Amino acid sequence: MEDLVMTKSEEKLSLNFIQEIIEEDLRTGKWDGRVHTRFPPEPNGYLHIGHAKSICLNFGLAEQYNGICNLRFDDTNPIKEEDEYVESIKEDVSWLGFDWEDRLLFASDYFEQMYQYAVQLVKAGKAYVDDLNAEQIREYRGTLTTPGRNSPHRDRSIEENLDLITRMRAGDFPDGSRVLRAKIDMASPNLNMRDPVIYRILKASHHRTGDEWCVYPMYDWAHGLEDSIERITHSICTLEFENHRPLYDWCLRELGVYHPQQIEFARLELTYTVMSKRRLLELVQEGHVSGWDDPRMPTISGMRRRGYTPESIRNFCKAIGVAKFNSTIDIARLEHAVREDLNKKAPRVMAVLRPLRVVIDNYPEGQVEELDAVNNPEDAGMGARKVPFSRVLYIEQDDFREDPPRKFFRLSPGREVRLRYAYFVTCVDVVKDAQTGEIVELHCTYDPATRGGDAPDGRKVKSTLHWVSADHAIEGEVRLYDHLFGKPNPDDVETGSDYKSNLNPYSLETLPSCWVEPSVVDWKPGSRCQFERLGYFCVDPDSSDGKLVFNRTVSLRDTWAKIEKAQKKK
Ligand code: ATP
Ligand code: MG
Repeated sequence: MEDLVMTKSEEKLSLNFIQEIIEEDLRTGKWDGRVHTRFPPEPNGYLHIGHAKSICLNFGLAEQYNGICNLRFDDTNPIKEEDEYVESIKEDVSWLGFDWEDRLLFASDYFEQMYQYAVQLVKAGKAYVDDLNAEQIREYRGTLTTPGRNSPHRDRSIEENLDLITRMRAGDFPDGSRVLRAKIDMASPNLNMRDPVIYRILKASHHRTGDEWCVYPMYDWAHGLEDSIERITHSICTLEFENHRPLYDWCLRELGVYHPQQIEFARLELTYTVMSKRRLLELVQEGHVSGWDDPRMPTISGMRRRGYTPESIRNFCKAIGVAKFNSTIDIARLEHAVREDLNKKAPRVMAVLRPLRVVIDNYPEGQVEELDAVNNPEDAGMGARKVPFSRVLYIEQDDFREDPPRKFFRLSPGREVRLRYAYFVTCVDVVKDAQTGEIVELHCTYDPATRGGDAPDGRKVKSTLHWVSADHAIEGEVRLYDHLFGKPNPDDVETGSDYKSNLNPYSLETLPSCWVEPSVVDWKPGSRCQFERLGYFCVDPDSSDGKLVFNRTVSLRDTWAKIEKAQKKK
């Protein structure tokens, strides 16, 4: 019994502040026991890892509390929005493992209703048409320390406002010539409350409503109404909207409509990357990356192409939790989550990225042996496979040193090492290019008694190398990635330069001629594996029938695990 109580209170302790709010609401019956959240992307770019956090949070809370979550496109700005983005967002949300069922919604479907609500506000004397231009409106708004001034048009009659808004909608006025503003308080200490613009004239085609509209609602007006129309209970958004909340509440209160609760949490920021869609778009448009799904991008599509699993992203979002203050997360934590998941799932494969030819002098010419290799030492259920061994092999150039430094235990002249799953071999000769002096080939002998990788006489070797059989291996291209930016905070720039000056020029290294064991021959884009000793890799869509292209998803070195260990020791 006591155990149970302990568990319960421990569980309570680990609730985040949003879960606490929801549980309290469930207890008091505030929303009749409903939990209804939404993920409201604007279709003006591809989703990034920050959005993944919001998706996991909104869909996750709905799941946890037996509620539902809408996928709602906040498509109120016709200029930047496109169907391509809508499609990519749907794909990304599904891929992450979430289901909006029949709740795929578009704010643009509510344009008529939002407009009618605006008319209602005008009729109540709570909104007016202003003829000031954008610059004048800014000027009249005042500053944090000085109050704003009323527009000369603020006291127009309700009749005149109704006439003007009707004509605005009818297209009688040019873009930017008039706006509809909420009539709140030009002296409010909160600048958002100083008669915010709620409608603007914009003669632009919308990706869904075409030319039906030439007035479009502003975010602060639209968002609360969208939530209200959909009967959302908890409207979760990022901290920068905290001082928009009074306006969110004002609009819904003045209209007397259903009124969800807005709750703000800290947005996710990651080291070595930028996350604003505007910047990501710039990187794409200026060709700094190959596209939104470039494997170096922090986009969900980029991570998918890179080989990240949806589970690893979900686990990461869970691990970092939800907070009320902004902080930047070490990107090593995300990579740690990817490794943890792939370690369990990814079959092991041998591949040589920078090949060095090795001839086994005493191995019979023309002989081929199929040796047993384990697919995943973490999971016996994943079985085993055969790898061909023959007289000519490739090993990594890095695994040989003619003149080995202390602590270099890999292959060197006269030294014996193990070839994984195969034999002990000893280097007997080094062949160099006569002109360049470059090492082009090694000669080794093998000990037939060590088949499988163990010496019956019990003698030990200090290292085990991966290898492939030259005649059997498949040639492939490998792309190695490093962080897109060279600085943990790319926005930290010298005067006069911008975040792009911190792009890492070495973020992509292409190795055009690598050799992979033949078991991968039929692999398709998206297949993942661990190249033993090298990292986790994933087949890229650029692969063709003749040539596989592999992306390195993540290396094996886990810097976050080290940090965590050190923290635990303290
Ligand atoms: P950006 O500032 O990059 O353009 P945005 O916030 O304008 O992003 P939206 O499409 O409006 O992009 O975002 C949809 C939802 O995702 C919003 O609820 C927003 O709060 C959330 N979101 C966006 N970025 C992050 C982030 N870095 N961390 C957590 N949630 C985020
Ligand atoms: Mg936004």
